[in-house]
Amino acid sequence: MAEFKYDHVVVGAGISGLTAALLLSRQGGRVLVLEKATAIGGSMARFSLDGVPFDTGFHFTGGLAPDGLVLDMLKVLGIEQQIYPVSFSRSDGTRFVFEASGNTYRFPIDREGSIRELLNTFPDEADAIDAYFAKLDSVCSRTTSMNLRTIGESMHMSDEDYVCLADVLDELFENAELKALLAGYCLCYGASPSEISFANHARMSQGMHDGIVRVENGGDAFVAALREKLEEAGVEIRCRSRIVSCEEVEDGSVGAFRLNSGDLIHFKNAVLTIHPRAILDLLPREKLRKAFVNRIEGFKPSFGFFAVFGVCDDHELLDDFILLGLPSADLNAMFESGRREEDSMLFCISSEEVSDGKPCRTLTVLEAACPEDMAEWADSSVMKRPASYSEYKTRKTERIMERVYRQFPHLEGRFKVLGSSSPLTFRDYLNSPDGSAYGVKQEMGQFNLLGRLPLRNLYAAGQSSVLPGMMGAMVSSFIVCRGMLDSEEFDLMVKERLDS
Ligand SMILES: Cc1cc2nc3c(=O)[nH]c(=O)nc-3n(C[C@H](O)[C@H](O)[C@H](O)COP(=O)(O)OP(=O)(O)OC[C@H]3O[C@@H](n4cnc5c(N)ncnc54)[C@H](O)[C@@H]3O)c2cc1C
Repeated sequence: MAEFKYDHVVVGAGISGLTAALLLSRQGGRVLVLEKATAIGGSMARFSLDGVPFDTGFHFTGGLAPDGLVLDMLKVLGIEQQIYPVSFSRSDGTRFVFEASGNTYRFPIDREGSIRELLNTFPDEADAIDAYFAKLDSVCSRTTSMNLRTIGESMHMSDEDYVCLADVLDELFENAELKALLAGYCLCYGASPSEISFANHARMSQGMHDGIVRVENGGDAFVAALREKLEEAGVEIRCRSRIVSCEEVEDGSVGAFRLNSGDLIHFKNAVLTIHPRAILDLLPREKLRKAFVNRIEGFKPSFGFFAVFGVCDDHELLDDFILLGLPSADLNAMFESGRREEDSMLFCISSEEVSDGKPCRTLTVLEAACPEDMAEWADSSVMKRPASYSEYKTRKTERIMERVYRQFPHLEGRFKVLGSSSPLTFRDYLNSPDGSAYGVKQEMGQFNLLGRLPLRNLYAAGQSSVLPGMMGAMVSSFIVCRGMLDSEEFDLMVKERLDS
C-alpha cells in the first residue's frame, strides 16, 4: 500500500474521461486517470470476432463537418489529424424503412440534400419543413455550449427546453411518416419523442443533418489518438482500478480515494465521468442531502440495444449506409414497456473494414431493447449466464436477421453472424449499472448531474450530463474542465487552437 499525490483525478477512461484528462493536463499539474476495466476507451473501444473488427458504442457521428462541434473539439485536443471521417453513400447514405407500410425513404448525407429530398417527397408540407429546420437552427444558435468559442457564456434554458419533440411535430406536420423521419434520430439518444425536449432533440440531431460519417478504425481511432497525447502530456493511467472509499472528507471536500489495490490517492479535484448511480455509490451517504440522493435515484435509464454482428462473404454485396427500420410511424409506441420485441426500432450499419489485410463488409444490427427486458437474467454475469439466456439470444438473433433479410434478400446465405450481445453484455463489459446505451434518459425538465457535486472538489461529467453520444460526452468534459480551471486561460487556449 502506497500514497500518491495528484492535482486532478479523472474517474472513468471513456471518451469523456480521456477528454477531461487531456484538457486538465493542459494547464499543468499531475493528472491520474482511474479505470475499472482492463483497458481504456469505454464504449469507444472496438473488439474483434474471427479477426473482424466491430464497434461497441461508436458507429457514426455528426459534428465532423467543417466548423462542426466534434471537429472543433478534436482541434482543441490536437487530434484532428488522426481522425479520418468516412462518408456513407453520398446520394442515399441514410435510409428509413417503414416495415408496416413498406415505404422506404433514402436521403443524401448532407443537410441541403436531405431537405431537398424531404421537400420533393412531401411537397404539401414544404412550409412546415422549412419551419422545422429554422426551429432547429434557432435552438442550436442560442445554445452557447454547442460552440467552443461561447462555451463559457452562461447557458439559459430556452422555451424549447419545455416543449416535447412530439408536440412540435404534431403542431407542424400532418404526415405521420414525415414526423417519424424527423424524430428517427431519437435512436441516438434513447428517449421517445414525448419524453425528449425539442431543444435537446435539436442539439442532438443538428450535427447529424449536417453530415453523418463513420470514422476509419471506428472508436479505436479516438482512443489511440488520445492515448498518445496523454502519454506526451505525462498523464498517468491506472486500469483495473476501483475506488473503495472516499477518505479525509472534511469541510465539504474529499482529500483522497482509497483504491482496491489499497493505495491512497490524494488529490485537489476529481472529475467523475461514470454513471450518476455509480457516483452515488462512491460518495459518503452521510454527507449527502436526501433530495440529492432522491434526484439521482429517480433518473431513468435510456434504452439499450440488442446487437448482432456479422460479415458478408463478398465486400461488394452492400455499400456504406445506415438504415433505420421502423415497425410503424408511431415512435412513442416503440418505447412503451411491454411492447412486442418485433415492435422495436432497428439500426443497420454497413461498413467496409479490413480483416487480415483484406477488405471485408460488416453489418452491425442494433435493435432497441430496454434494460428491463433482461430482468430474468439481471443477476447473472459474463460467462456465467444460464442456458435460457443463450436460447433467448439465439431466438432473438434469428428474429432480427429475418427483419434484416426482408430488407436485403440477397444477403441470405451470404451473410455470417459472428456474434450478438444484449444490454446485459453492455452492462458487464462497460461497467454500467444498467446496460443502457446512453446512460440517464434525457427527459424534458430534468436536471442531469453536471459539474460540481455536493462534495465540492468533485465534479460530474460524461454522457449522462449534458447530452449523450460521443459528442455529448466530450462536450460535458469541456464544460466541466473550463469550470475547474482558470477559465480565461482555458478560453484563450481554445481560441488559439481553433484559430491556428
Ligand atoms: C451499442 C451502443 C451503440 C452506440 N452508438 C453510438 C454511435 O454510433 N455514436 C455515438 O456518438 N454514440 C454512440 N453510443 C453512445 C456512446 O458510446 C456514449 O455516449 C459515449 O461513448 C459515452 O462516453 P463516456 O465516456 O461518458 O462513458 P463510457 O464510454 O461508458 O465510459 C465510462 C468508463 O468508466 C469506467 N467505469 C465505470 N465505473 C467505474 C468506476 N467506478 N471506477 C472507474 N472506472 C469506472 C467504465 O469501465 C468505462 O470505461 C452508443 C452506445 C452503445 C452502448
